[in-house]
Amino acid sequence: MGDRPAAERREQLIALMREMKEEHECPLIATRTKLVFGAGNADADLMFVGEAPGFHEDQQGLPFVGRAGKLLDELLHEIGLSRGDVFVGNVLKCRPPDNRDPTPEEIAICSPYLDRQIELIRPRVICTLGNFATKLITGSQQGITKVHGVAQDRELGGLPVRVFPLFHPAAALRTPSVKELLQEDLAKLPALLDAARPAAEEAPDAEGRRHAGAAETADEAPPQLGLFG
Ligand code: URA
Repeated sequence: MGDRPAAERREQLIALMREMKEEHECPLIATRTKLVFGAGNADADLMFVGEAPGFHEDQQGLPFVGRAGKLLDELLHEIGLSRGDVFVGNVLKCRPPDNRDPTPEEIAICSPYLDRQIELIRPRVICTLGNFATKLITGSQQGITKVHGVAQDRELGGLPVRVFPLFHPAAALRTPSVKELLQEDLAKLPALLDAARPAAEEAPDAEGRRHAGAAETADEAPPQLGLFG
């Protein structure tokens, strides 16, 4: 698994998205508009995992495109990163009605797809955004207020990964002090990423190891998307 070339893993990620569109057996399909598979660099060292699509994500089929997403973009920019450097996904790929919390059943149905995304993207660092992603990925019931800003080492998708829990940007939009904490935590991310990369980083592949892309939406491929970068 670990040795497969990036291009092959990217193709498999695209196949996984198609599979989800056709076979995903989540009850939320009845109420969602579009599947929000995730978007970004399919060979990213850094992955963000949020909770579930909201209204705008559901309309566009892309993750974090509403107000919380705009804040995430701004905060990434502050540390010299952009969406093209990272892969952004969610615990649930379909919007819960009225943005209610994901249920344990929905998480159980959807999380195997997140596991497969992690296996294929092979990120070195995963930032979990908020409680749902943090509890799922750390495998612990400790909430975000306790664990934010401190990396935890895990093995995910058969590889070592540093999990870095962060407050959800939507919480930061509601509470200025949470935004400050999120900024403080994100400021630690560049060093964390450097430390998580092997000393001799392999050379970029023919297409370049990091370049932007995003998910295909339900029935059309929007102009910015070559599926995944
Ligand atoms: N909140 C999330 O958790 N995910 C999104 O994609 C958008 C908002």
